[in-house]
Amino acid sequence: MASGPHNEHDERREHLSLSRRSALGVAVGLTAMGAQAAAARTTNVVDVVVVGAGFAGLTTARRLRASGHSVVVLEADERVGGRTKPGRIAGEVVDLGGQWVGPTQTRLLALAKELGVSTYPQFDAGKNIIDIGGHRVAYEGETPRLVPEAMPEFIEVIGKIEAMAAKVPAAQPWQAADAEQLDAQTVESWLVLNAKHPAVRTMIRLMTRAVFSAETGQISLLYFLAYAAAAGDFNALISTRGGAQDSLFEGGVWQLAQKMAAELGAAVVLEAPVQSISQNNDGVTVATPKGDWRARQVVVTAPPAIASRIEYAPPLPAQRDGLTQRMPLGCVIKVHVSYSRPFWREEGLTGLVLSDRTEFGPWFDHSPTVGSTGSLVGFFDGAPAQRWADRPVEARRGQVLKDLALYLGDAALSPVEYLEEVWTRAPLNRGGYVSVPGPGVLTAFGPALREPFGRIHWAGTETADAWVGYIDGAIRSGERVAQEVAAKL
Ligand SMILES: Cc1cc2nc3c(=O)[nH]c(=O)nc-3n(C[C@H](O)[C@H](O)[C@H](O)COP(=O)(O)OP(=O)(O)OC[C@H]3O[C@@H](n4cnc5c(N)ncnc54)[C@H](O)[C@@H]3O)c2cc1C
Repeated sequence: MASGPHNEHDERREHLSLSRRSALGVAVGLTAMGAQAAAARTTNVVDVVVVGAGFAGLTTARRLRASGHSVVVLEADERVGGRTKPGRIAGEVVDLGGQWVGPTQTRLLALAKELGVSTYPQFDAGKNIIDIGGHRVAYEGETPRLVPEAMPEFIEVIGKIEAMAAKVPAAQPWQAADAEQLDAQTVESWLVLNAKHPAVRTMIRLMTRAVFSAETGQISLLYFLAYAAAAGDFNALISTRGGAQDSLFEGGVWQLAQKMAAELGAAVVLEAPVQSISQNNDGVTVATPKGDWRARQVVVTAPPAIASRIEYAPPLPAQRDGLTQRMPLGCVIKVHVSYSRPFWREEGLTGLVLSDRTEFGPWFDHSPTVGSTGSLVGFFDGAPAQRWADRPVEARRGQVLKDLALYLGDAALSPVEYLEEVWTRAPLNRGGYVSVPGPGVLTAFGPALREPFGRIHWAGTETADAWVGYIDGAIRSGERVAQEVAAKL
C-alpha cells in the first residue's frame, strides 16, 4: 500500500482510450497548479479516484475494480479505516472507533462473512444500571427503567418519536410531509414541549448524546427522526440485543478495512491527502503531495465538513458548499479500561451504566471472550467530550476511574491499563461518530448530499439510505456510488 501502481506509462497500455485524452488532461492540471510545478509532478492515470480509505472508500474501490475499472484510493492518513481504528490494551486488539454491529446491518455482516471474521454477542447477562435525577435502578432487559412515576410518560414519548420517525423518508428527509416544521425544531425544543417529567427529559438527552455524540439542543428534529428511520426505528439505535449494540467482531471490526485494503494492494495510497480536485469536459485531476491522478470520475467519501477542506475547481455549487459548512461532526472520546477480572459480573451486573451524575458514560462490558481479564468500553460524548478533549490524559483517566467507581466500587480504581482515542482532536476526522446538522440544514441544503457535481460523486456514511452514521451505512454508500459511477464509465 506504499505507493500507487499506475504511472502514466503503464496505464497507457491498459487504458488506451483514457490515455489518448491525457495530454488534454495535463492541460487541466496546469490551470490548477501552474506550468512549472506541473512539469515536475508525477501524473498517474486511472478510471476512478476514490478519496478516503474508510469503509465507504474501500467498498467503492472494490466494487469498481470487480466490474473491471482501474481505481486508486487516496488516503490522507498513514492507515486505512477512517473512523474505525485498532488499538491494543492488555494484549488484546480493540476498536478505538466503530465496533458494534446489529442484526439488520446486513451489508456489514455480509462483508464480515465474506472476509472470514466472526462476531460474538455483547455481554448482557445481569443487571444494567440507570441513575437519573438521583434515582438509581438496576434492571434486566432492554427497556430502560426510570423512577416509576416517569415510566408512562417515557414510554409515551418514545412512542411519539417512533410514530414521527416512521413518517420520515430516511434517504430524503427533506421530502417528509412536514419537513420544514420538523427541521425548524431541535430535539430539545420538541422535548420540552412533549415531556414534562425531568427524568424523561434527562433520559432522552442522555440517549441522544449516546447515539449522536451531540446535545439535543444542537440537533435538528428532522435529522434525528431521519436517523432513526434509517436504522429501522429509534429502538434499534438504543438497544443492545437486536439493536445497534448487539454484537462485536472477534479481533475487531477494523481488520475488515485492513483486509479490503490488502486485497486492493498498491491501489491504496496512504499519506496522500487530496488537496485539490479540478475537472473539465475531458477529465478530472486530483492533486496530492505524492503526485497527481488523472481520472474520468472521482468519489469523495470524507464527511461533508472534512471534504470542504479540499479545493475544487471550478468551485462547488452554492448548495453543496452550503451543506458542507453546516454539517459538523459530533464530539467523542472513546475509552477502554482493562482489569485483572470482570469484577462487576460477580455482583450480577452487565457493566452497562447510564448516569446523569458522571462526565464519562455510557459504558459497557468489553471483556475478551478468552482468558480471565475484564474490560470496559465507554465514551465522553457531546458536551462532556468538548469539556474534556483539551485536558491532559491523566485528568481524563482520573475522571473515568472516579465515575466507574461510583457504580462498580473501588475495584474500578485499580485498572491494569487505560487506552483512549480523542476523535474530536484527530486532525483528519475532527470528531464522530457522524455529522450532526442543526435546524434548517436538511430542508435548505439536504438535496446536495448525494447530488454529483460533474465528475465528482459523494459517498460516506452520511450519504447512506439505511444505517446512516454506521459502518453498515458507509458500506451501503460505497455500493451505491460504485453503481452510479460505473454507469458513467
Ligand atoms: C468513537 C466511534 C465509535 C463508533 N461506533 C460505531 C459502532 O459501534 N458501530 C458502527 O457501525 N459505527 C460506529 N461508528 C461510526 C463509524 O465508524 C462510521 O460511520 C464509519 O466508519 C464511517 O465510514 P466512512 O467511510 O463513511 O467515513 P470515514 O471512516 O470517516 O472515512 C473517510 C476517510 O477519508 C479520509 N480523508 C479525509 N480527508 C481526506 C483528503 N483530503 N484526502 C484523502 N483522504 C481524506 C479520512 O482520513 C478517512 O480515512 C463510530 C465512530 C466513532 C468515531
